Amino acid sequence: MNNRSPIVLTGIAASPGFAAGPLCRLDAVTASYTPKATSTEEIEALNGAIAMASAAVASLIERSSGESADILEFQLAMLSDDTLAEPALAAIGQGADAASAWARVLDAEIAGYEASGDDYFRARSADLGDIRDRVLRALVGTDMLATLPGAILAGEDLAPTRFLETDWSAGGGIALAAGSSASHVAMLARSRGVPMVVGLGDALSTLSGEVLLDAQAGVLTALAAGGDIARHRAAAAAFAAVRSSAAAYLSKPALTADGTPVLAYVNVADPSDVDAIDITTCDGVGLMRTEFLFSRGLPDEETQYRAYRKVLEWAAGKPVTIRTVDAGGDKPVPGFTVAEGNPFLGLRGIRLSLSRPDIFRVQIRALLRAAVHGSLKVMFPMIAVESEYARAKAMFAEEALALSTLGTVHRIPPLGIMVEVPSVAIAPQAFSDVAFFSIGSNDLTQYVMAAARDNASVARLNDTAHPAVLRLIGEVAAFGAAHGIPVSLCGDAGGDPALIPHLLKAGLRELSASPAQLAAAKAAVAGVTL
Ligand code: PEP
Ligand code: MG
Repeated sequence: MNNRSPIVLTGIAASPGFAAGPLCRLDAVTASYTPKATSTEEIEALNGAIAMASAAVASLIERSSGESADILEFQLAMLSDDTLAEPALAAIGQGADAASAWARVLDAEIAGYEASGDDYFRARSADLGDIRDRVLRALVGTDMLATLPGAILAGEDLAPTRFLETDWSAGGGIALAAGSSASHVAMLARSRGVPMVVGLGDALSTLSGEVLLDAQAGVLTALAAGGDIARHRAAAAAFAAVRSSAAAYLSKPALTADGTPVLAYVNVADPSDVDAIDITTCDGVGLMRTEFLFSRGLPDEETQYRAYRKVLEWAAGKPVTIRTVDAGGDKPVPGFTVAEGNPFLGLRGIRLSLSRPDIFRVQIRALLRAAVHGSLKVMFPMIAVESEYARAKAMFAEEALALSTLGTVHRIPPLGIMVEVPSVAIAPQAFSDVAFFSIGSNDLTQYVMAAARDNASVARLNDTAHPAVLRLIGEVAAFGAAHGIPVSLCGDAGGDPALIPHLLKAGLRELSASPAQLAAAKAAVAGVTL
């Protein structure tokens, strides 16, 4: 009987690459706990697991900075607070085992935080979820598995902190049943070059053992036969060969085969991303997404100022384009975004920021203050009509005036817009006074093609190389050239070797790519003859 035919799940590639290894299931941890013989042993097991989780978080804090460190500090404080464990210890006294007692108490606590009217507490429920899972993993001993070289972390979704604590130096990858290619963890995976596929569906939870992850095609294969394994190895080797031959281009300026210079910027998600990037390998930051700062709720002005200043100082005078927060769509922020039936077409990006001036003005002040520490440019996401840009620009002027009155050092940076809503790409004439355009090819493609970027079943339609998308990109590039407005592109297409020839032929001369794709992007530029 042949019950070993391969199982192939198709999702969306969220970070390119290949991995083969044991599937490490992040969920289903409670079920795999083996109860102890006595309640005294259960209590010892729980206290031991909390101590292990605390030690793991403490050592992570030493390797983290900025927002990631703040999140972990909060988690360590919670783990050290006896009042969190007391109800679980009491339940063990009543006969429960350590894993289910801990899970039940933390689930109740999380529900309480989520139901709270207070934004701060709602935002902290994600941290509690992390703490719950971290202690459960320590109880069951699966942290060992996660650190196996080449393990593929699989689950419903993955917390950014779990990503940051994993040692990816030996390979490995991420396979998610749900998730989104625009999530924070996907941004981190792209920026660090970890292969990741999202949207694999519920069937993922039934798989175990060795799997093949193809994060180029967005496919996960279990029970692979010899032929599948050989094909996977060949594709992975070809991918690795392209990466290593591209590495030689990293330290050189980007130039086409016939000598046309192209500016090559990097995209940054978490401010700590820049610690691993050599500034001499790029022309600056083409897009700093600030959503990561908002992933645990609303950051105060000081937290934001420190994050922006860090990146500006790292850039040592090269331009840094920071985007005001693009919350909404598939990037919910507790206490800020609203539940909507069709979030990609709803209150997202600049629409949301303008609807909450109390929150937006905090970010504007942090940006105005940070601007004196380098060459800052600021852009607004999801602009659809000119009045949105005009209102945002007026708010910068108002906050600058308020800072002047207080005698606070600041500077108004050049203000530009993302071109990612078709209305702007089709009629850019309304925006003749912006300082620059940055094409968001991820959203421009999904809106032109009417194919959601996080829906695997329409991924084929979500194609930046479609003539309709390329025509709009070419028209924006031509409009910019005719009016002296610089035009760059910061969507994923900017780091995609297959798309770069099209982008340069459409007239673009400034591209921004994730750090892991920068070398391949420069190599692709070198292969183009204009
Ligand atoms: C884009 O839409 O291409 C873009 C760069 O923005 P984001 O992916 O963050 O929506
Ligand atoms: Mg976008």
